Amino acid sequence: MTVPGSDQRLRFRAALISLLVGLLMLGLKMGAYLLTGSATILSDALESVVHVAAVAFMFWCFRFASAPPDAEHPYGHGKAEYLSIGFEGGVIVLAAAAIVWQAVVGLIHGHQPGRIDLGFALIVLAALINLALGSWLVHVGRKTKSAILEADGQHVLSDVWTSLGVLVGVGVMWLMPANHPALVWIDSGVAILLALFILWVGGRLVRQAMRGLLDEADPQMVGRVVAAINAIRDPSWRDVHNLRLRRSGDAIFVDFHLVVPSLWSVAAAHAAVEKLEQHILRVLGTQGSVLIHLDHPHSDPTVGMDPPIDSSETNPFTVAQATRFKQG
Ligand SMILES: [Zn+2]
Ligand SMILES: [Zn+2]
Repeated sequence: MTVPGSDQRLRFRAALISLLVGLLMLGLKMGAYLLTGSATILSDALESVVHVAAVAFMFWCFRFASAPPDAEHPYGHGKAEYLSIGFEGGVIVLAAAAIVWQAVVGLIHGHQPGRIDLGFALIVLAALINLALGSWLVHVGRKTKSAILEADGQHVLSDVWTSLGVLVGVGVMWLMPANHPALVWIDSGVAILLALFILWVGGRLVRQAMRGLLDEADPQMVGRVVAAINAIRDPSWRDVHNLRLRRSGDAIFVDFHLVVPSLWSVAAAHAAVEKLEQHILRVLGTQGSVLIHLDHPHSDPTVGMDPPIDSSETNPFTVAQATRFKQG
């Protein structure tokens, strides 16, 4: 099963809109910063710079990640999605560091923000646009099963929170008398708080990328595979072990050991395994592959009859059983 062409086009269009709106946001927020000179507003604008860089990189990954497997990359290119998410998280962390730096410099120079009213209006506009864009991206990402788009949407939504924080800080400054000495402290303090939030968002994206790149165990997906095996289980299959799976984009790769009677012919065993492999892929509803290694109950296949099947060997296979590691 491959991604339908219409989904592919929808993903691409969503990424393009995300990029264009990101550029618009950058313009709005930079404009607000130039008008006000506020460290708080600059923190929001810097985050936007990072955002545009991340979305541009996402574009490249999109093209690459959806290409089918080829001679160079026989497992496909789906892991590029995690690369994109990790890059996005990494640059967000850098942006947080830049914001703290700017806020501290602002404190040292005692820089007074001005034209707060205009800045406030521009940030409100940016937050509303981001709220609409972020919700839509998450929706499209889930619909087309694209981890990148969904992560991008989550990022845009977290920017709405950043902007709300900016609005609270800017609102307080607006209420205070102009050129009050505390303004500088409030401006820098709010900027640093926002940087901590942005740092947390970036860290979460980096962790998500690590999970995907390092093939972290996915008990829920393993459960679906074990249920699929149980559904068409032959009574002579005694055990499943060494089951593991990894994902790459839309594709899932599963392998495990299956214990079958030692006297089964290669032809019979192959037919059973082939049927099971097809069945698992159908149940998971994905592309990818299932590879089954055959075991039999004897350490020495020349000694004749297999031991009788124990009653415990007829229970449905469990996730704990399937994922335990056995040598051989
Ligand atoms: Zn390639
Ligand atoms: Zn084995």
